[in-house]
Amino acid sequence: MFSRIPITDKVVFVTIDDGIEKDPAFIQMVKDFQVPLTLSLADTLIKDDYRYFEQLHATGHVSIQNHTLTHPLDMPSLSAQRQLEEIAGQQVKLHREYGATPYIFRPPGGNYDKRTVAAVQQADLKGMMLWRESMEIHDMQYQTAAHRLRPGDIILCHFRGPAQLKGETMVQMMTNLYRHIQDQGFTVADITNYV
Ligand SMILES: [Zn+2]
Repeated sequence: MFSRIPITDKVVFVTIDDGIEKDPAFIQMVKDFQVPLTLSLADTLIKDDYRYFEQLHATGHVSIQNHTLTHPLDMPSLSAQRQLEEIAGQQVKLHREYGATPYIFRPPGGNYDKRTVAAVQQADLKGMMLWRESMEIHDMQYQTAAHRLRPGDIILCHFRGPAQLKGETMVQMMTNLYRHIQDQGFTVADITNYV
């Protein structure tokens, strides 16, 4: 389990979860900005349009990781068998849809127990990724009192659109995020080069 990477370079990692919003303009943004992104996808939230994430994958700037089949927000309330089904089942789907073999698991809501850890191992994933900051509409929520990014921090975002962002778009939210990162003197790196 990790929520940052122990490095001193001024880089951070941007991760985007779930998959509810599917804004075509964001695909163009990924192509234009060429910022490496880690996507943790839940089947129930992407299955109405698998192709959207195929297009994101095809940009070459994203890696696809596992975020369960049905996005249960309380994994610890599930049996060991159900937890395994959630994770192993999503491995199969992500491989079928994208040819991807995820090796990082992000538990919905950050909630997990020792059965989750065991299921992650049984499903042949290598680690579980939490986060240090989460991106809201305009600002980041920090888990530490300093309210500053630190080297190696992992930032959580979500695929969100006007319905979840009080009228703002995914592209506007990501622009706000990139500006905060740049203002603090950081650049974004690809986490798959570190873990
Ligand atoms: Zn989620």
